[in-house]
Amino acid sequence: MYLYNSLTHKKELFKPNCPDVVKMYTCGPTVYHYAHIGNLRTYIMEDVLEKALRYTGYNVKRVMNITDVGHLASDADTGEDKMVKGAKRENKTVMQIAQFYTDAFFEDCRKLNIKRPEVVEPATNCIDNYIGMVSRLIENGKAYIAGGNVYFDTSKLGQYYVFNDHDEEDLAVGVREGVEEDKNKKNRNDFVLWFTKSKFEDQALKWDSPWGVGYPGWHIECSCISIKHLGADLDIHCGGIDNAFPHHTNEIAQSESFLGHKWCNYWFHVHHLNTDTGKMSKSKGEFLTVSLLEEKGFDPMVYRLFCLQSHYRRNLVFSWENLENAKIAYEKLVSKIATLQDDGVVDEAAFNALKERFTNALNADLNTSLAVTAVYDVLKAKTNDGTKLAALKDFDSVMCLNLLQAAQSLRQKQKQVEESSADPEIDALVLARTEAKKAKNFAKADAIRDELKARGIEIIDTPQGTKWRKV
Ligand SMILES: [Zn+2]
Repeated sequence: MYLYNSLTHKKELFKPNCPDVVKMYTCGPTVYHYAHIGNLRTYIMEDVLEKALRYTGYNVKRVMNITDVGHLASDADTGEDKMVKGAKRENKTVMQIAQFYTDAFFEDCRKLNIKRPEVVEPATNCIDNYIGMVSRLIENGKAYIAGGNVYFDTSKLGQYYVFNDHDEEDLAVGVREGVEEDKNKKNRNDFVLWFTKSKFEDQALKWDSPWGVGYPGWHIECSCISIKHLGADLDIHCGGIDNAFPHHTNEIAQSESFLGHKWCNYWFHVHHLNTDTGKMSKSKGEFLTVSLLEEKGFDPMVYRLFCLQSHYRRNLVFSWENLENAKIAYEKLVSKIATLQDDGVVDEAAFNALKERFTNALNADLNTSLAVTAVYDVLKAKTNDGTKLAALKDFDSVMCLNLLQAAQSLRQKQKQVEESSADPEIDALVLARTEAKKAKNFAKADAIRDELKARGIEIIDTPQGTKWRKV
């Protein structure tokens, strides 16, 4: 498999350190609020990467942290701790907030068919590991104590900016926030490994350390959790592109200074989900969550397809209209699959040709939009339905779009429609709704749908027109 490596700025043939198992680390969520769908795009693409690696024959051991301490509002060392902010907002304790939003995150993942990594470790579980790493960094002269905090000394590195394709704006992160410079830092990019002089009196979680009672900086957790579970050599580190600097840059600085050798070979960064007003974030505009998509009538699988239709290294523009297009595409795909009749016969040669196209798409730097095209190719292929269904099932072990399940349930519904006895009154209402829709009188169409729903009738839009069934 060829993958783009942010560290070398090239597509490279992927080769794990040990042929038996790929060691993969994923930066997990900061659990102070619901995940927005921009964050979830990153987790969807990382999930596809893991499944594609498994599909092409690797075992994968994947580890994810859960940030429940130390992540300050600016991503650098300024602003309020996000967890403390969340706890205040909801008048709960930090641990209550952490538990609630960790559960909410994995519920979103479940809905989006994102596999839970083998190891999920909350940052607050590994305090001794951080103390161990920070102690070593002080001993070998890579860290210093100033004003009560422990800082990493970036001037001791041969090279600090390892991902030179992050943009200028990201580099100015500490300055951009408009928060006062930390006078304790010897160099502008030095970062906190351990806080003791917190100006936030209400920081809830504090631990004893050789440098006084305090709490860890944000970056140290990923280095320690990765090394704890995956050892000193990591194959792939993943995350959103906005984490390349400062978070991943700092992870590399401290991990390699601690280990004394190169730490991670491949860096996989997923680009932004934007809205038409710019980068999606929790602070601006509509807060887009999986639940909101569902409230608006979008199956989470439609969002997964929307993400797969575009390459992970391109910014993706979200709008309700774009999502509506993905919904139409998904429903068309499912209704076509629903017409396939399983004859139980698989033509090996035809199957392998289809599979090769799909595998080539994955191997070309995880080109999921080509992989989606390979799904359409199956439907167009001149082969029997049994072969097509076998190929679709095979592909969906990576895509995880529930294509066959959705087709099955559509067939079920269509059967029930056929079995429902004709009812002229219902037929008339269904017709009135179709006409209201044609006339773009959506309020009337929705009112009729609601009335039918109250009478236990579900409307199903099919390629053969609108049908109904008793539920
Ligand atoms: Zn991280």
